[in-house]
Amino acid sequence: MIKYRLSCINCKTSFDSWFSSSNEYERLKKKNFINCHNCNSLSVEKSLMTPSILMSKDKTNIDFQENKYKEIKKTISKYQKFIKDNFDYVGENFAHEARLIHYKDKKTSKGVYGSATKKDIEELKEEGIETEIVPWIKNDN
Ligand SMILES: [Zn+2]
Repeated sequence: MIKYRLSCINCKTSFDSWFSSSNEYERLKKKNFINCHNCNSLSVEKSLMTPSILMSKDKTNIDFQENKYKEIKKTISKYQKFIKDNFDYVGENFAHEARLIHYKDKKTSKGVYGSATKKDIEELKEEGIETEIVPWIKNDN
């Protein structure tokens, strides 16, 4: 099978048509079996195939990942802003502060955020203190 882009000289429409071979096209053309899909004119010409750009698969992939990363980064940045606005930063003291809030009912309208080790988080969980792990990226600016 071969696909040709055909242009109608009469109505300037172009359309794709399939032929079993280039010979078949020539044969049908001679017999005036090829007509315009739009206006039925027989003044149809085979136009030059438009060159198509084939992107290297790897390149596309890189672009895709880059875009995806940018998207994720944007989402995380928004998330970070929300956390910074609504939570108090306690840095390395996160586990300690979390316990203070949990056990001593420390009066605070805000939650806390900070860094904790995996062990801290597991221990807090065992004590019934639920924490959320959020992806964090260092701000470039
Ligand atoms: Zn036409």
